[in-house]
Amino acid sequence: MANGSNPSGDNDNQGMSGLQRWALPALLVGLLLLFLFSGPLAPQGPEVPYTRFTGLVDKGAVQHVVVRGHQVTMTFREKQPVGARGKKVRQATTRVPLFGGDKLMDRLEKANVETTVREQRQTGWWWILLLLLVPWLFLMGMQFFQWRRMGGGAGGGGGGFGGFGGGLTQSKAKRVTREDPTTTFDDVAGQDNAKREVAEVVDFLADPERFRDVGAEAPHGMLMVGPPGTGKTLMARALAGEAGVAFYHQSASEFIEMVVGVGAARVRQAFEEARKNAPAILFIDELDSIGRMRGTGLGGGHDEREQTLNQILSEMDGFSGHEEVVVVAATNRPDVLDPALQRPGRFDRRISLELPDVKARRSILELHAEALPLAADVDIDRIARGTPGFSGADLKNLANEAAIRAAREHKKHVTYAHFDDARDSIIMGSERALSITPDEHYRLAVHESGHTAAAHFLPNADALYKVSIIPRGQALGGTHQIPEEERYTMPEDYLRDRIGVILGGRCAERIFLGTVSSGADDDIKQATRIARGMVTRWGMADDIGPMDLRQDDEQPFLGQQMAQPRQFSDTTAHQVDEAVRAFLTAAEDRVMRLIQDNREAVENLVQALEEEETLDRAGVEAHLGARPAVAAAGEADA
Ligand code: ATP
Repeated sequence: MANGSNPSGDNDNQGMSGLQRWALPALLVGLLLLFLFSGPLAPQGPEVPYTRFTGLVDKGAVQHVVVRGHQVTMTFREKQPVGARGKKVRQATTRVPLFGGDKLMDRLEKANVETTVREQRQTGWWWILLLLLVPWLFLMGMQFFQWRRMGGGAGGGGGGFGGFGGGLTQSKAKRVTREDPTTTFDDVAGQDNAKREVAEVVDFLADPERFRDVGAEAPHGMLMVGPPGTGKTLMARALAGEAGVAFYHQSASEFIEMVVGVGAARVRQAFEEARKNAPAILFIDELDSIGRMRGTGLGGGHDEREQTLNQILSEMDGFSGHEEVVVVAATNRPDVLDPALQRPGRFDRRISLELPDVKARRSILELHAEALPLAADVDIDRIARGTPGFSGADLKNLANEAAIRAAREHKKHVTYAHFDDARDSIIMGSERALSITPDEHYRLAVHESGHTAAAHFLPNADALYKVSIIPRGQALGGTHQIPEEERYTMPEDYLRDRIGVILGGRCAERIFLGTVSSGADDDIKQATRIARGMVTRWGMADDIGPMDLRQDDEQPFLGQQMAQPRQFSDTTAHQVDEAVRAFLTAAEDRVMRLIQDNREAVENLVQALEEEETLDRAGVEAHLGARPAVAAAGEADA
């Protein structure tokens, strides 16, 4: 194992002086300017009105004129400003009107001006050709400059575009970054399954002989898969740290440059470096940026991307079986990866990193809050419960944001309120000062009370966390719920109540104000999406049955949708729409009834929210009473 730190190629690039770096573009720009301001197109002195020209002739100030067709260039003497001595000789041009040209010759003769008559200026074919070539020469120059900047031709043997790859490998190109990480599994909280799988590879790297002795082949490639911020890079570093091997790190997108062939050369160079310093981990981040399915149009059939991907594949195929280099790649889009990447011998081990559950969130928070001076009221467990959907990176950010708030207020300790405020701004954005009219303020309180009442009374809804009508980010207010338990599937009655809570704001507006508003825009969108999922994906509509009727292919981690051609009839489409509408209206009717049945309590809640602007669960229960037990409410509801 080599321990010396190998600086990245960036440093090499920095070695190039600023003067050298800009010499070529400056030269090109200079040539372009020279081209524009010289030759046939160049102006010869400022243009002056014809009458001024004749005035100067009559005064005897003009010494010499050159006549070319209608254009006249004159050399004349001009008076200097007051105080200056003598007269200055200058040049100017003017155009002779179509009429009166003959009189001009008389005038010039009379004033005794030396006159030269020349052929009208013609733009030669060579000039037009040059004009057409200049932009191309400029582009080629820039391309050449870029290539030089990346190190093309350096190292002596490269020479020209043909010898490009070879030159680059030993050149000044941006090299894969080497680290010798001290990160261990202790720095990765939760993710126990992933750790178990990674531990096998640690074993191999730490003692390859043991595996070799029994004829076991080395693992070559590992694919870390999971949503952003779940610790894929952290886990790869911990793998290197635990095994005590070098860690080479490069983002896949960094392999690619504008010039075709650079990516492949960089891949070769990265593998070469890792092999030379084996045992080592070569970590390729964002693999999907180059590893997308070839020939599908995804990623645009980009030549450079495909060549780079092919190079990765062929490097991995070239492993002899006993090499102590493990290539670890990370992606949050495993669905778009080229299947060839996951063939045996390539990235055949897949390690999934999930969003942390409440227990993992607690340990991640403990890890990142360890160094903070926490106040006695900080309840890590409560914060962990209040942050479902947060990734490890989000939780790290939460701890840091809370500390920033404490520092901003010149406090010595980070309190629970700091965490709570940081959480709200991560979820919804920072508080916004908006001038809201009293009517609008009341409508907001009504709307949020509607969501809150639905969350309180509907038996299968997630428990209420807090409600607020303080504008944050894009939202004017918000009702936050938190599941009591981690939820991995969503039962039908939960989804029905979820729609009810989402539509609750609109129901309350209708009951207390008689009209609805555009404030429910996103609510309607969300509710419709859930109802559509119930009908088209989860077979929850009796009239439709267990049939997959989705039209969008939702991407697993990013929520992106790709439109698919519809594969069912108009009649079925109509039935789907009806079933979706039925789920929505049933939920709305139910919540309308609930609010009407508890009208007085909800009215009190509206008033309290108007006054206090934010209420937690206890504050809400002070007006709506304790939340009805789920079973009892379920029976009553049925
Ligand atoms: P991306 O997909 O966006 O590249 P990633 O999955 O590679 O993200 P990391 O970059 O490894 O995520 O995580 C960012 C930071 O979040 C880490 O440096 C670490 O501080 C924190 N983090 C993430 N997961 C964990 C965890 N399980 N335990 C402790 N810290 C974590």
